[in-house]
Amino acid sequence: MALRHDWTKEEILEIYNKPFMELLYEAATVHRQHHDPNTVQVSTLLSIKTGGCPEDCGYCPQAARYHTDLEGNDLMSVSQVKAQALRAKSAGSSRVCMGAAWRNVRDGEEFDNVLEMVRTINKLDMEVCCTLGMITENQAQRLAEAGLYAYNHNLDSSEEYYKEVISTRGYQDRLDTIGNVRKTNVTVCSGGIIGMGENEADRAGMLVALSTLNPQPESVPINALVPVEGTPLEEQEPVPIWEMIRMVATTRIVMPETQVRLSAGRTQMSREGQAMCFFAGANSIFAGDKLLTTPNPDVNEDMEMFKMLGLNPQKAFEKKAQPESVDAENSKYQSKGEKPKWTRPGHEIDRNLQAQEKAKTKA
Ligand code: SF4
Repeated sequence: MALRHDWTKEEILEIYNKPFMELLYEAATVHRQHHDPNTVQVSTLLSIKTGGCPEDCGYCPQAARYHTDLEGNDLMSVSQVKAQALRAKSAGSSRVCMGAAWRNVRDGEEFDNVLEMVRTINKLDMEVCCTLGMITENQAQRLAEAGLYAYNHNLDSSEEYYKEVISTRGYQDRLDTIGNVRKTNVTVCSGGIIGMGENEADRAGMLVALSTLNPQPESVPINALVPVEGTPLEEQEPVPIWEMIRMVATTRIVMPETQVRLSAGRTQMSREGQAMCFFAGANSIFAGDKLLTTPNPDVNEDMEMFKMLGLNPQKAFEKKAQPESVDAENSKYQSKGEKPKWTRPGHEIDRNLQAQEKAKTKA
């Protein structure tokens, strides 16, 4: 059946609210038509530059304006990243996702170093993903040329609710960044977070935004908010597992070929809960004891769970061939020293301002 790119919010809400067993059965059926249900892709997320971010994302302990216990660090070296990637590979990961707490990529030495990290990991025969904030088409081309496999840029929520969480960057900039990645052969990873206080219509709205992209993202991470003290969302109640399963199942139905990734919040889920998410169509996880800055299950625990459920880690480049990696000296795309004007909506979000004020009094 051809993929649909015209899902409406009403249709998606109807799926999300189906009787639970029907929803699960339908999602599992779609999953089996498009994927091996016993294979799960394992990614390792590496924070290559932590904290000190100028943005105001209400869920994020890396935003410099909030007071959290986070210890920041400057950009890691290429050799440190290589050592971590080798460790991830020996623990069963097929992909390394490098995250930097930046608003957007700036041409210069740090980006050149990231390009070198991409080349290095590609040469280890692992899939490389980056999440570095907004990027221009030229920056996307340079990442592609270095051998990047995927670029992550989450939509976070529906366009309406996004405005209740972030005021320093606009939804359209997110879509434009995804559009820039799409002009290359790099695959797109984009998803969001549930449990930020949004309603079901917002969850459906996010899935409309993702599923109507053509092509749909190759991977969609579904995160459950991990509330961190000091952030504006510190007091949010944990997302009930049933809602997480519904969200995974709905994502699977509207984006049948996508890899749906169970991301942040797995430490709060039982194995039974995770097993139901896999049954409902999740076929990717993040491994490693940290997800950028929030806790994640231990690798050994995950491997035990895989054994118990008879799941096998997906091999690298099973879905798409390994991209060629061009060395810096043979590169066709050079730094343009661009200074793109990404938007800064700047509207007031009360809880963000309150968390910022609280941080000042604690400082
Ligand atoms: S989510 Fe990313 S952009 Fe937003 S504050 Fe955190 S590190 Fe910065």
